[in-house]
Amino acid sequence: MGAPGTGPGAGAGLDAPVYPLSLRLEGRRVLVAGGGSVALRRVAGLRAAGAEIVVVSPRLTPALDDLAARGLITAHRRGYQPGDLDGAWLALACTDQPRVNEAIAADAERQRIWCARADDAAASAAWVPAVGRAGAVTVAVNAGRNPRRAAELRDRLVDTVAGRGRPAEEGEQAAAGGQRTAGLVSIVGGGPGDPGLITVTGLRRLREADVVVADRLAPLELLEQLPPGVDVVDAAKVPGGPAMRQDHINHALVEHARAGRAVVRLKGGDPFVFGRGREEVEACLAAGVAVEVVPGVTSAVSVPAAAGIPVTHRGVSQGFCVLAGHVRPGDSRSSVDWAALARSGMTLVLLMAIDHLAAIADTLISAGLAAQTPAAAVSDGWTRQQRVVTATLAGLPGAVREAGVTNPAVVVIGDVAQLAAVLPPGAPPDPSAYAAHGGAFRAPEPPPPEPAAAAVPAGGGDSPAGAHPASPAADRLTAATARVPWRVLVLGGARSGKSAAAEGMLADNGAVDYVATGIPPGSGDTEWDARVREHQRRRPPHWRTVETLALADVLTGPGSAPVLVDCLTTWLARVMDDCAAWDGSAAADAALAGRMDELLAAWRDTGRQVIAVSNEIGSGLVPDTASGRRFRDELGRLNARVAAVSDEVWLCTAGIARRLR
Ligand code: SAH
Repeated sequence: MGAPGTGPGAGAGLDAPVYPLSLRLEGRRVLVAGGGSVALRRVAGLRAAGAEIVVVSPRLTPALDDLAARGLITAHRRGYQPGDLDGAWLALACTDQPRVNEAIAADAERQRIWCARADDAAASAAWVPAVGRAGAVTVAVNAGRNPRRAAELRDRLVDTVAGRGRPAEEGEQAAAGGQRTAGLVSIVGGGPGDPGLITVTGLRRLREADVVVADRLAPLELLEQLPPGVDVVDAAKVPGGPAMRQDHINHALVEHARAGRAVVRLKGGDPFVFGRGREEVEACLAAGVAVEVVPGVTSAVSVPAAAGIPVTHRGVSQGFCVLAGHVRPGDSRSSVDWAALARSGMTLVLLMAIDHLAAIADTLISAGLAAQTPAAAVSDGWTRQQRVVTATLAGLPGAVREAGVTNPAVVVIGDVAQLAAVLPPGAPPDPSAYAAHGGAFRAPEPPPPEPAAAAVPAGGGDSPAGAHPASPAADRLTAATARVPWRVLVLGGARSGKSAAAEGMLADNGAVDYVATGIPPGSGDTEWDARVREHQRRRPPHWRTVETLALADVLTGPGSAPVLVDCLTTWLARVMDDCAAWDGSAAADAALAGRMDELLAAWRDTGRQVIAVSNEIGSGLVPDTASGRRFRDELGRLNARVAAVSDEVWLCTAGIARRLR
């Protein structure tokens, strides 16, 4: 489908066909020069691909600024400098200064790094195609130098792949571009974070848009799919950060619509749930501009669902109340009757409540709500960074603080919270409850046939080091219904590729419960933080991350999705801390032995597919101290015991995984 790309100075004409290539950018550095809306769209696509993104720009849009503040990209707030390309595999020159883009392209050419210029296709060595995704399929289209046509073709292909019929009439409307919606402002709810959770109408409006005014919590990945001519305005209102005042947003909506453009105001969740949507509607009406509201999937309901929590449940809760917790109880600006809520018997769903969680819990408890009421906080729902913390109402503020869970998060208070797929110790799951995994529910799976024996060399051969092993073991795990339970232990030294190998075994799976047993990023340990981020980047967005030491509860709990435990080594270290095992008192030893036995029993009895990653003690360096030796011995024992009740044991060395048993 392509037309030509030419490397600056390469002398090729524009008639040579392009050479399509799919880049696997996971963990590879990509330089993005520029901090405006084009850069934002490129960054959204690069993040989806797991790239290590470095943005260089004196100014950043609020959404980019926010990504940098959350450590999800690296930002250098200055102009491009020679040397910025060092270590990069790819460069995207998206500054608004053609001379700067030209300099970057020239440096990239010298360093033999592919560079795509946003401003000058003819002078660009690489072109960014129109990209769309449907499940495991990625569609990329070049249509000569007609990006609108590329986007249209891409949409049709994605629809075909996704099995969505496009009635002729609808196709014609889409082909007519923005005409039908010219001059209309569509206030569109984008859903909670996963780009698949926008409505069909919302997506259609986006595809027809000339201008998109996007919020920080809108699913930014959707922006990646817009044709290049679309003007993206970043209206991110980052708390405490730069803010575009609401009247500026209203003004922008009105002015663009008056100029005859199809305007989409893209918001997170639903526009009418703490979204200021009605104010925007009124501003349009007052200016005589046509406006519509396209509802969205609100985080208030969908984010608890991502953790398996229904906001109502027969016999448990007959209603739910959604409220904002951004104003402290007792504050003169608060209009919430907390005492009435405490008596209401309803599920309480709190948005924007993380900052005042302790005060809110205290207020509810003083008003008579039981301190033991189950509660949960789910942050970054439906995204790769999703985290779930469960506790009692009294314990939740501490648990949230300890886990480092931050905004955006939804807090659920009420008995339904105990239906979260992972429960804290002491809160037994209702055995008749749904088997929840990642927000989806499925029936119990049929009993497994006997596994076929297979010798499995994996990850070697023509796969690059560290690549996911495409192995019969992976196939067995992928065919989710084939064998349940299936217990796998993946051993390896530090940086041996063991986590990547384990993730690869589940790569094609649907939902996976990823149990992180380490500490979340933000500990101040930069190497650890980088490692956690690397893991986050690798994980598919639909996996659910759970931060817990209660492994036995996960393994015997109500979920049915496969579980990936990463890793037993940190679990053991933290459990030994918990039990004060280092001083070697008899009581501490007994406590540790109890935790290990409990884990082993759950590992043996689990009804789920489980993969656990652990350090192979033989190749680890352990400090020659009493505690170092103690840890080495306990870990060796734990590995041996887990291995003894596993169906497969793998060993990873230098990125190559081999099955030992
Ligand atoms: N209109 C939005 C809510 C906007 S208020 C909706 O209907 O969802 C912003 C708050 O929504 C955040 O502070 C957080 O409490 C919640 N929120 C939005 N997206 C979220 C997500 N992906 N995960 C967790 N909470 C989310």
